This record gives sequence, structure tokens and C-alpha cells, in this order.
Amino acid sequence: MEVKRITCRTAIESSALCAKLEEAGIKCVIYDETNSKVARGILDPTIDIMVNEEDLERANAIYEEMLKAGEEVLPWCPSCGSENIVKLDKPKHTSKGLLGFIAAVLCFVPFRSSTNNYMCKDCGNKF
Ligand SMILES: [Zn+2]
Repeated sequence: MEVKRITCRTAIESSALCAKLEEAGIKCVIYDETNSKVARGILDPTIDIMVNEEDLERANAIYEEMLKAGEEVLPWCPSCGSENIVKLDKPKHTSKGLLGFIAAVLCFVPFRSSTNNYMCKDCGNKF
């Protein structure tokens, strides 16, 4: 049986997803970052979760559901590390953008938004 990976955008997100997967009876392991990306000097906030191939489809569905519902899962400030983050309202954020995001997730490509989604309340950084 093969092991597949789901890439989460943040450590917070990966632990939230892992909890949900376990609730659904799916075995998952958070891939140890320190042995891979960090050791190779790659600055990448994404975290991989490993699941069995047979569970991948369900796990992806749970991840999508979590992303749609998961307004409470906020990242932290890349500039000062604060978790005091607010989500910015984006009237231009269309469903097309969301679909693109989901497509990016499904293709395991780290999502890079060209617009600012969040603002740090501590230092005012938008990211
Ligand atoms: Zn900040």
C-alpha cells in the first residue's frame, strides 16, 4: 500500500486536519518538517500529512470541507510571528478564485495568492 501526502498551508492547519482525519477513522501522520525542508534550508510554511493511498480521496474531501468551513483556521504573521490575525474582506474574491485554490490544493501545489488575505493586528503587516 502506498502512502500519499496532503500539503497543508500552515502547521495550525495540518494539526486541525489531522484531528479531523482521526475523527473520521483515517490514519495520518504529520510529516516531520525538521528532517526535510528546514534541514535543506528551504523556508516553506507548508506541512505535509501522510495518509494511506486508499484513504486519500476521503482525506482530500475532508480537507476541502475544512477549508470551506475553516474561517477559524488562521495563519500567523510571517513578519512578526503573531497569531493576532484578521481575515480581510475581499469583495473581489470570486468563486473562480476559490476553484483555482482548490485545484491548486488537489495538484499539491502550494497556493500563492497575489493579493493580501490577512492582516496582522500587531504590526499591521498584510499578507
Ligand atoms: Zn505581525
